[in-house]
Amino acid sequence: MVLADLGRRINNAVSEVTRSNVVDQNVVDTMLKEISNALMEADVDIKLVIQLRKKLKNKIDIDNDNDKQLGINKKKIIQKAVFDELCDLVNVENVEIFKPKKKQTNVIMFVGLQGSGKTTTCTKLAVYYQRRGFKVGMVCADTFRAGAFDQLKQNATKARIPYYGSYTESDPVKVAFDGVEKFKKEKFEIIIVDTSGRHRQEKELFKEMIEIGEAVKPNQTIMVLDASIGQAAESQANAFKESSNFGAIILTKMDGHAKGGGAISAVAASKTPIIFIGTGEHIHDLESFTAKQFISKLLG
Ligand code: GDP
Repeated sequence: MVLADLGRRINNAVSEVTRSNVVDQNVVDTMLKEISNALMEADVDIKLVIQLRKKLKNKIDIDNDNDKQLGINKKKIIQKAVFDELCDLVNVENVEIFKPKKKQTNVIMFVGLQGSGKTTTCTKLAVYYQRRGFKVGMVCADTFRAGAFDQLKQNATKARIPYYGSYTESDPVKVAFDGVEKFKKEKFEIIIVDTSGRHRQEKELFKEMIEIGEAVKPNQTIMVLDASIGQAAESQANAFKESSNFGAIILTKMDGHAKGGGAISAVAASKTPIIFIGTGEHIHDLESFTAKQFISKLLG
C-alpha cells in the first residue's frame, strides 16, 4: 500500500470514531485494529505496530474515563493520540540536526549504494542550498564507475552548480581532497562530495569511505537510501554506519509506488534522523522531513 492510501485509511478509521454517538471500547478497538492493519500493509515493522497499538490503547483509556458521554473531548483526545503516536513512530529524538552556516566552509559528504539516487540527491541538495543563498560546489569522488563524473557534470551543469572531478585521476581520495581544497580556496560555503556506491568488494567500498572521510573531514555525512527497499533500509544503514558515521539520512523514491512506511520506520529504529525525502527525478523533488510535518501531510 502506498503512503497516500495509508493516510486515507488512518483518517477513515479515526473518522469512524468521531462520527460515533458513543465512544466505547468496542469503537476504539475497531479503530486500533484498522490503523494497525493499514500500517502493516504499508510495510511498517510488526513490532513497531504492536508497540504503537499498546501505547494508543493506554492513552485512550475508555474504562478509566468519566467523561464517556462528553464525546467531543474524548474524540479530540483520540485524534491527538493517533497523531502523536504516528509522529513518535518516525521521530528520532535528541539528535542535533546539522545546519550549514554562511561565510564558512561546510563540507557535506554523501554515502550510499549505487542506484540509491546519490548523485541525483547531491544535485537536489546543492540546488536547495543555492536557492537559500549559499555558494555551493559539487565534487565527484567516484572514480570507480565509468560515467560517474559525466553524470554529475551533466546534473551540475543543468542546475548551474560549479563542479569538480577528474577523467584521469583514479584515486578517489585524491580527487575528493583536491576538489574540496579548490572550492575552499574559492570561498565556497557548501561543498558536496559525491562518492562511489559500488566496488569489487563491499569491504573496499567501506575502506574508501573511511579514507575520503579522513581526507575531506565532512561537517555532515549523509547516507542516501532507496525507500523502495522497505525494511531492508535499516540493515543497509547499519552496514554504512561503521565506516562513515553519518548523521543524517535522505530517503529517495518516496514518490510513486514505494510503500515508504517500511523504510521510514526501519530508519527511525536505527536512531538516525531522516532530514529530506526525495519525491521524484526532478531537481526540485526534495522535501525537508520532520516527523510532525510528514504525519500532518500524510493525514492531509
Ligand atoms: P546513484 O547511483 O546512487 O548515484 O543514483 P542516481 O542518482 O544515478 O539515481 C538512480 C536512479 O534513480 C535515476 O534514474 C534517478 O533519476 C532515480 N531517482 C533518484 N532519486 C529519485 C526519487 O526521489 N524519485 C524517483 N522516482 N527517482 C529517483
